[in-house]
Amino acid sequence: MAGGPHAAAIPCWRCAERAERVREGLETDTFLCGSCGFTITLDFDESGPLEEPLWPPTPEQRAEILKAAEARDKR
Ligand SMILES: [Zn+2]
Repeated sequence: MAGGPHAAAIPCWRCAERAERVREGLETDTFLCGSCGFTITLDFDESGPLEEPLWPPTPEQRAEILKAAEARDKR
């Protein structure tokens, strides 16, 4: 369960490259970025499974991810 069939891959929060789901849990899924090796754990307990795939991101989404990642790095 967790993110459901649409959550097989998501954009990496760090580099916006493809992160594959490596572990599917009951409430959380774990994703591993194939590009930078960053591990992401997403909690789908409250949101439920994804209704639409997050991969591939639109150019706008990709730009937002990279902007957010840069802002986090500056902290
Ligand atoms: Zn990455």
